[in-house]
Amino acid sequence: MEPLLRVVNLKTYFFSEDKIVRAVDDISYSIGHNEVLGIVGESGSGKSVSALSLMRLIDSPPGRIVDGKVLFDGDDVLQMSENEVRHIRGNDIAMIFQEPLTSLNPVYTIGDQLMEPLTLHRGLTKRQAELEGVQLLTQVGVPSPAERMKSYPHQLSGGMRQRAMIAMALSCQPRLLIADEPTTALDVSIQAQILDLMRKIQQEQQSSMIFITHDLAVVNEMCDWVNVMYSGRIVERASTRTLFTSPKHPYTWGLFDCLPRIEEKQGIRLAPIHGQPPNLARMPVGCKFHPRCPYAFDRCVEEEPPLFNMPDGQTVRCWLYDNSQTGESARVETLRESNDVRTHDEAPVILDVKDLTKHFPITSGFLQRTVGQVKAVDGISFTLREGETLGLVGESGCGKSTAGRTILRLLDPTSGSVMFHGTDLASLDSKKLQEMRKRMQIIFQDPYSSLNPRRSIGSILAQPLKIHNLAKGKEVGEKVADILQRVGMNPEHAGRYPHEFSGGQRQRIGIARAIAANPDFIIADEPVSALDVSIQAQIINLLQDLQSELGLSYIFIAHDLSVVRSVSNRVAVMYLGQIVELASNEGLYEDPLHPYTRALLSAVPTVDPTGARASSRIILEGDVPSPINPPSGCRFHTRCPYCFSVCPEVEPLLLDAGNEHFVKCHLYDPNYSSAAPPKAEALVSRGRELNPEPAS
Ligand code: SF4
Ligand code: SF4
Repeated sequence: MEPLLRVVNLKTYFFSEDKIVRAVDDISYSIGHNEVLGIVGESGSGKSVSALSLMRLIDSPPGRIVDGKVLFDGDDVLQMSENEVRHIRGNDIAMIFQEPLTSLNPVYTIGDQLMEPLTLHRGLTKRQAELEGVQLLTQVGVPSPAERMKSYPHQLSGGMRQRAMIAMALSCQPRLLIADEPTTALDVSIQAQILDLMRKIQQEQQSSMIFITHDLAVVNEMCDWVNVMYSGRIVERASTRTLFTSPKHPYTWGLFDCLPRIEEKQGIRLAPIHGQPPNLARMPVGCKFHPRCPYAFDRCVEEEPPLFNMPDGQTVRCWLYDNSQTGESARVETLRESNDVRTHDEAPVILDVKDLTKHFPITSGFLQRTVGQVKAVDGISFTLREGETLGLVGESGCGKSTAGRTILRLLDPTSGSVMFHGTDLASLDSKKLQEMRKRMQIIFQDPYSSLNPRRSIGSILAQPLKIHNLAKGKEVGEKVADILQRVGMNPEHAGRYPHEFSGGQRQRIGIARAIAANPDFIIADEPVSALDVSIQAQIINLLQDLQSELGLSYIFIAHDLSVVRSVSNRVAVMYLGQIVELASNEGLYEDPLHPYTRALLSAVPTVDPTGARASSRIILEGDVPSPINPPSGCRFHTRCPYCFSVCPEVEPLLLDAGNEHFVKCHLYDPNYSSAAPPKAEALVSRGRELNPEPAS
């Protein structure tokens, strides 16, 4: 049977005065009927441009599809008239983007935008289109669909907007759905909802799908076939099962080796892919991966490899598979063994946070009267010991970043105390606080916005040295060179400016600035979430090396539970401004107690080819409620699958379950647990074993 889509030698280039960027360079593949193809790659690999090219959505100039064929049902989309392409876009191929807010029109209601293609392409009357719109929103799980038809995009949450976007894409029952990073901007519990929805729809409608992502674990759970892209080329193609059990390309090996995995204990040393992805305007000769490939040999530097055919339809672009070479036996498997992790039970406590709250007033009217409070952080308590890493996790809006900033007094707390080395930070005047700042630093998610673009790297790093009187005159330059070396950068880079560096290098500079004043405590706020996986592993390793060299203590704030598992000694889970569970790394990941933690952990997609974890997934309903007016009683009760009579009425106590494991849930409280629903029996009986008591 002819495949639904066949792409042949597609090339899409971007032209400027002095250079040509070969974003997609000679790629060929096909998608069968009712098949899901994953396209995976890091930034700049060409995965999104290749998808936009299929629908002829490349901005021209500067972009142009310079060669190739896109055969949809045998007809070449690239040779069609504008009218014919528009017809295909409306009826046969639809696209879902990463950030629906930019692709939904802000001045039209969701209903208007849903009904337009129905009247235009399917010839429905206005009334019929309205009914069909409500039906589509129901199908994608939007609550109160008739109401939502009247809402504007900004009135919906991120997850709801993505559902509305999917409803729009489905409105004309496309035969091919192209989803470009559809869940990347979403929290893990919402990602699980959307992936589940897309899987169901694809199966019900027997349609085909192209799923573009940087996340191998999402590919594992969604796709039948995978194209791995690097530098505008497909470097490996295989069925998902084959790719995840027997990857063949050194780049694919590297991608697997550098991934932190949620099922693996703390202490695994990640194996990053060295160097940076190439500049597409100045590609290396020969194999495009050779500057980063540990297996490169002479031929790789001179000649570009073709795609070699392997059994089961797998193809791989690598000279190792030429007849005279050793193939996959060349692979040096990275041992994913956990090193002994030092315990910190005996180490002195350097930070003691007690009942910390940070509320932001909401003002309204001419007189700016306070009409409410955003309870961003609402009574959190924990300690941090010397040399320890505490992971702080939770979804957007849970208050983890605000907590970090309030601890450092970048924001003034509303109440509570933060004792740092025995001194209450809230009581310090600005001079004393400045002194103390030397010892506590922060690393931000986006180092670019926190580095002054007009100052050289040397001057950025010299600033804390001078402010804190740590070096004078010639010594400053020497110290800057030393710090740059410590973070794996060339001291000669001191004269360059932030824009001259890649994302990963800029994060190294952010780290260099944080360690310049010799702190003993650093808050790392989502330090790797903006980076590609190969670079992410480099930065995680760097942070861990610096910790053991300099004896640093970290609070590691992140939404990625696999990353947190690989770096943290203990982990605190936050929900709507409160800590709902706090435990050792092993305690939290091997024996999670709180229903929210259990759902979060189960929602994380994995690269396990058996799919064992996916079958036990707990999908939470609904969105995280607003912290302006959090739910009464247990704040999680509106989404909790085990919610029972007492939960909306009484706020749970934080219970001490022993072994430094704390949980805030009535299921473990002997005063209430007997009324819990039968489906919570496993958790209640675990509570009986642990016999927790209210934390002191
Ligand atoms: S062709 Fe050579 S450089 Fe390229 S991936 Fe294979 S071994 Fe590495
Ligand atoms: S207290 Fe009730 S609603 Fe809250 S997590 Fe426990 S069971 Fe769920």
